[in-house]
Formats: sequence, structure tokens, C-alpha cells
Amino acid sequence: MSDVSYPVRTSFWGTTSADPISVLDGREGADVVVVGGGLAGLSTAYHTARLAPDLKIVLLEKEYAGYGASGRNFCNVPQLARADLSSLVRLLGPEGARYIVDHQAQMFEDFQALIADESIDCEFQVVDLLHIAVHEEMVSGLRRMYEQHREYSFPSELLDAEQTRKYVNEKVFGGLSCSRNGYAQPFKLSRGLREAALRRGVVIHEGSPLSRLSRNAASFVAETPGGSVEAKQCVFATNAYSPGIGVAKGVISPNYTYTIATEPLDDEKFELMGWHERHRLILDAGINHWDSQMRPNRQFLMGDAMHSSVSKDGVSLARHDDPAVYEGIQAEMLKRFPFLEGTPLDCAWGGPLGMTESRYPVTGKIAEGLFLNGGYNGRGVLMASLSGRVLAPELAGVEVDDGYKRYADLLLHHGREAVQISTDGVTV
Ligand SMILES: Cc1cc2nc3c(=O)[nH]c(=O)nc-3n(C[C@H](O)[C@H](O)[C@H](O)COP(=O)(O)OP(=O)(O)OC[C@H]3O[C@@H](n4cnc5c(N)ncnc54)[C@H](O)[C@@H]3O)c2cc1C
Repeated sequence: MSDVSYPVRTSFWGTTSADPISVLDGREGADVVVVGGGLAGLSTAYHTARLAPDLKIVLLEKEYAGYGASGRNFCNVPQLARADLSSLVRLLGPEGARYIVDHQAQMFEDFQALIADESIDCEFQVVDLLHIAVHEEMVSGLRRMYEQHREYSFPSELLDAEQTRKYVNEKVFGGLSCSRNGYAQPFKLSRGLREAALRRGVVIHEGSPLSRLSRNAASFVAETPGGSVEAKQCVFATNAYSPGIGVAKGVISPNYTYTIATEPLDDEKFELMGWHERHRLILDAGINHWDSQMRPNRQFLMGDAMHSSVSKDGVSLARHDDPAVYEGIQAEMLKRFPFLEGTPLDCAWGGPLGMTESRYPVTGKIAEGLFLNGGYNGRGVLMASLSGRVLAPELAGVEVDDGYKRYADLLLHHGREAVQISTDGVTV
């Protein structure tokens, strides 16, 4: 390994610090306490407050809203994630898979309605996503994906090698361009959802990590270093951080995945890359892959889902500033785009993924009054942002007939029975 140092920041997309005025100080009562201020926790708080404005909802966040994966991700908002159709059919059979595909089409609309209703400026754009075959044997996989897309009425276009090279100047053997795909700037999305929750009356305590949870006869007491919240219902939305606080160990496995961003490319290098406006994101086909994207200001980003670090003890998270992983991504970038040699890097960062065996999250009740909303793997932007639609009716005690219950019953309860939370003392 060389001694190159990398410009590591928490997130390329934006960072802030906990609002000092919001830090929990003293004792409070609430109807619902939500732990974790990523998209899952914010969505839970926001949608519950929207459905039941009379409930008092308090959210505890260790750092600041959007500190975790939600503020660091790769911006992709897909109706269908990469291997969704195959895994959905395997998990649920053709009929269940069809319900989920149709429901996720509705979710794609609901996501856009949410950001429009709340005027969340997150650079959202509906834009095609390109999967590329960087090895010849990946072409058959793309063809299978395309055939499944047709069977389930999902809009995509199969491209041969020459057509694919019109969109990226590297050695490719074919491509699959998918429509009904979105792009959202993650930090702006998270902070926008935070503002929306605050406007709906949610109390957000940043800089307030949960340090212990205990149960009284009728309620939970969530303690932080500065105070406590007593609430009838408690929702854990701490995703990859969960096992570290005694929650869902063995059900949610922490992983870490990394990205680099160049400085804006000059005209010559940008032309050589051969990107056009049709796609902002290109993902390698296959399970292990590299992701790339071109920002409108011509910053080129490359992420490594190929070598993401799996937690060895199932609890601790990998090092954020490990130069070896950034060096590996830079080497891959230069192998594929040799003309980028000498291009300075603007930022290097990583983020935690909460992985589950089914590759889908666990969103639902796991004990009386206790809920888990986590395990979003690498596909949380759409699902976590709308996860509050699943939980809000149950938290508020009202019935809502909008398809989210059936979606959750089919897809989001895998592994729920195995979730362990030490309610008589979660110690950080
Ligand atoms: C690099 C990267 C790229 C990705 N790319 C994509 C993509 O393109 N598209 C996509 O759909 N998904 C993507 N994902 C996944 C997506 O970002 C996540 O699935 C989603 O953000 C999960 O949201 P969350 O709220 O569950 O978790 P998080 O955003 O991680 O939120 C958990 C929160 O809990 C807080 N917390 C932890 N411990 C405590 C405590 N003791 N007390 C209080 N709070 C606590 C944390 O500070 C954090 O804010 C990517 C993820 C990464 C890391």
C-alpha cells in the first residue's frame, strides 16, 4: 500500500453538527419514542405525526439527522433494485412478486408526492439507470433481467455492446437501461425530511444517543446522557448501528461500503468518459459490482460494493478512514478509465449498511409496544423514506387501506420473530 492520503469526510453530500439547543436535557413524556434519525426513523416520526397530529412523537438521534447511511448513499431511488425480481420471485412466488412490483410502482409515485408536498429540495430527478456487463458472461444475466422486466411490465431496454458504448467509454459487452428510476441527493433528502417532521410537531433531539432502555408496567423509558423519554411505544430505527446497542444482533449484520469523488473533470476528460444526459448512474451487472455516477458539475464518483467490509463480530463497524479501501477504488477507476490518471480526488467516504438474510428490511412490531424498522441493505432510499406509511397506522391505532399493510405482511416481516432487544437494559 502506498502512503497516499485521501480527503476523507463523513459524507461528500454534506455534514453538520447536532443542533445544541435540541439536545435532550431532563425528563419528557411522549406517545412514541423513535430511536435513530436516518430516513427510516424520520419517516416513522413524520408519517405518524401526519396521520395522528395529536400524538406526541419524540425522536432521539445520536449525532444529527442524516448522519448515517441516509446522508451518505449513492442517490439511487429505484422502483426495482438490481436483483429485485429474481429474489422477489424466490421469496414470494410469482403472485407475491407481482404485488410487490406493482406496489413499488405506487411507492415511486408516493415518494415524489412526499417531496413535492413538503417542498424537499433534494435535486430529485426521474432518470434512467444503466446496468452494464463488464464481462461477457454478464450479458446472459442482463438478458434474464430484461425478460423478467417484460413479464412484470417494468420498463427497460436491452442494449448491445455498441449501443452501450454510446453511454460510457469503457470495455462493455452489453447494457440494460431501466426507466422508472430516480435520483436524490441524500443529505438534502434527509435534512428535508427532518424539517418536514419538525413542521408536523415532531420533537427531535440531536446529539442524544440512547444509552439504556427499560420497561415499566405500561411504558418504556429511553435514557440518554442528558435525560430520558417515557413513552408507550418505542421504535428502533438504528439500522446497521443496531447490534452495537444490543438490538437485532444476528438479524441485522453491519457492513461498510465506500466511495470516492474526483474534482470536476476538464472538457477533454469529460468527453473521453463519453457520458450523456440519459443516465446519471451506471452500475455493473452481477451481485458484486462497482457503481459510478457523473454529477452535473462533472465530478465523477465511483463506489465499491464489491469489497464492502462485513463486520467480523456482527456488531462493530469497519474503519471509515481506511486508506487501503480508497486506494483499491482509485486503482479500479484508473484501470477502467486510464485517462483519469492525475485527476485529483475531492472526497473519500464510506457508510454503514444493515444487511439481512432476505435482503429486505424488518419493519413491524416485534413485542408489545416495541417496533423495529431497519435492515435496509443497499436499497433503502425509497423503502426507508416511506417506511412510516407501514408503521404509522399501527402506532396511531387506526386502519388505513393503502396497500402498505399487505406489502409489509408479504415482504417486511422476514426474520422478525428472531429479533432480540434487551428491554431491561440496552447499554451502549
Ligand atoms: C455508501 C452507501 C451507498 C448506498 N447507496 C444506496 C442507493 O444508491 N440507493 C439506495 O436505495 N440505498 C443505498 N444505500 C442504502 C441506504 O442509504 C440505506 O438503506 C438507508 O439510508 C437506511 O436508512 P436508515 O434510517 O435505516 O439508517 P441510517 O441512515 O444509518 O440511520 C440510522 C441512524 O441511527 C443513529 N443512531 C445510531 N445509534 C444510535 C443511538 N444509540 N441513539 C440514537 N441514534 C442512534 C445514527 O446516527 C443514524 O443517524 C447506500 C448505503 C451506503 C452506506
